[in-house]
Amino acid sequence: MVSKRAIKQISDSDDDIHKSSSKKTKLGDRSSDSLHKPHHFSAESEKYGIVLRKFYPPEMSNERAQAYNDNLITRPIEELESALEETASTHQDVQVKKAVVHWFKMDLRTTDNRALWEASQKAQEAGVPLICLYILSPEDFEAHIVSPRRVDYILRALQTLKQDLAALDIPLYMETVEKRKYIPQRILDLMEEWKASHLYANMEYEVDELRREAKMVQMCRGKGFSMKLYHDTCVVPPGLLHTGEGKQYAVYTPWFRKWIAHLHENPGLLDLFDAPAKNSSNARQTFGALFDCKLLDAPENKRLSTEDTKLFHATWPAGEHAAMDRLEKFCEEKIGEYGSRRNFPSEASTSSISLHLASGTLSARTAVRTARDRNKTKKLDAGVDGIRAWISEVAWRDFYKHVLVHWPYICMNKPYKPEYTDIEWSYDTAHFEAWCNGRTGFPIVDASMRQIKSIGWMHNRCRMIVASFLCKDLLIDWRMGEKFFMEHLIDGDFASNHCGWGFSASAGVDPQPYFRIFNPLLQSEKFDHNGDFIRKWIPELRDIQGKAIHDPYNRGAGPQAKQAGYPKPIVNHKESRDRALEVYKAGIKRDKP
Ligand code: FAD
Repeated sequence: MVSKRAIKQISDSDDDIHKSSSKKTKLGDRSSDSLHKPHHFSAESEKYGIVLRKFYPPEMSNERAQAYNDNLITRPIEELESALEETASTHQDVQVKKAVVHWFKMDLRTTDNRALWEASQKAQEAGVPLICLYILSPEDFEAHIVSPRRVDYILRALQTLKQDLAALDIPLYMETVEKRKYIPQRILDLMEEWKASHLYANMEYEVDELRREAKMVQMCRGKGFSMKLYHDTCVVPPGLLHTGEGKQYAVYTPWFRKWIAHLHENPGLLDLFDAPAKNSSNARQTFGALFDCKLLDAPENKRLSTEDTKLFHATWPAGEHAAMDRLEKFCEEKIGEYGSRRNFPSEASTSSISLHLASGTLSARTAVRTARDRNKTKKLDAGVDGIRAWISEVAWRDFYKHVLVHWPYICMNKPYKPEYTDIEWSYDTAHFEAWCNGRTGFPIVDASMRQIKSIGWMHNRCRMIVASFLCKDLLIDWRMGEKFFMEHLIDGDFASNHCGWGFSASAGVDPQPYFRIFNPLLQSEKFDHNGDFIRKWIPELRDIQGKAIHDPYNRGAGPQAKQAGYPKPIVNHKESRDRALEVYKAGIKRDKP
């Protein structure tokens, strides 16, 4: 559990604080007014859709982000933990009635699902059926920028899940609730209708979800229900790993050493949970109607075209069986070479399990455990080089979720280093569109952008190259790139995406000085040496031979590229680099005295 903080001087929801600017609290030499004031660049962040005002308050001030850093504002995880503590004794007294419910969120699997397993245990002990529930929330899909590709994947995964659960005589009831604020009450109503007493779920660490669950825990108590929430999405739960001074790590390497040591000391964290036990057959008599519940449709604004439906269904088979097949195949064929091959986008040398981890059709625990069991040692940082390297990559996902829990303002459009919102970003639409459409004239950038637009996934090296290009070469507000990624990725995951972008923009955890700027040409030559990746995604350049593929207009293949309709570079890298250095330097200093 996350350790208790110093006494909070402000405890509020970020929604409330913007509404109640009359509230005064003395915080050192900062007046509380400055905490409540929106950020001075918030007009741009709204105009370009970075802050979705339909759902959220204006961009917060840097002072307010700092107040989170100074432990002056209650973090959402702490709100939830307090609610769980306050209600613990009452929940213990709740008697099991006619059913126990598991609420699926981003944990769409039957195996190695902690809350589902706990719910099943409870139901078995009490001799009552287990009912499973999924609520589709169009507003959450919109507010959290869940791409249509991902929505489609989730719906397909639910279909598999429903079949697997039905084979265990467990119903999966699914329903769409249009307004997200009604979800908690709707779940409580369903519990009442089913005469269920116990609700189980795994935690999600994004701010809206933690706050919703804190409220629900209290609502359940009010109704005489018990609600239990479990840490499940990370291998090591957030809040357990601290620096020598008891702080959250902001740097990966020492955090990773602690992560490894923690798992070696607590090997039980890699024990897997069995699938739920079969319901007794009378579950079908009592809850027959729930078994007949229809599959859900995607909200209208999240539907795939017929062409994309075909492509995505063929490229990304859904559900936990597909996830295990992919993982096993990767461990069988590729993991040994992962350390040396993982940076080359033309080779399928990575696992491509990110979509399964993002929607929970695979658990991170199973991923690490499966890889470890293939090693000749139980040590996670020893043995086969590729296995060790791959486990350390899966750990990045845990790291970023730990960061999100401790610095929740990153979920509110603020970078870990808030002063980086003072950089005078460009909002040049022509440049942004060229980047989005893979027409910047930088082949490695364009090939990568065409990959994400086509198949909803991009190689990690390419994600870093295009992100650096957007925020350094084009100096465009990187939050626009972050949003574009969420709109197109099938593996969109808030923490990994935000932190990946924060890293590339030098505004995130794990120090990446702003003067470290990727040279797209050198990246291209190093990681796509023969240009195979570029040729795959840019048909206009397929006939260009040799090194000219990396930079056709400056390497003698201009006429050929022009004739094929490939654009000239939209910027000069050296000039853009100099401009980025200047603008970054000025921006970071802006609100310093
Ligand atoms: P593998 O190389 O096989 O790694 C296995 C797993 O480890 C991945 O599936 C992923 O869960 C985790 N992992 C690997 N590298 C990273 C990393 N750098 N950060 C966090 N986790 C990692 N990952 C997402 O899952 N969703 C995102 O929305 C996302 N957005 C990103 C945006 C940017 C700008 C950057 C630089 C990275 C982003 N990543 C994101 C991280 C990484 O690019 C992907 O996880 C990885 O490319 C997925 O491919 P894979 O499953 O084949 O990875």
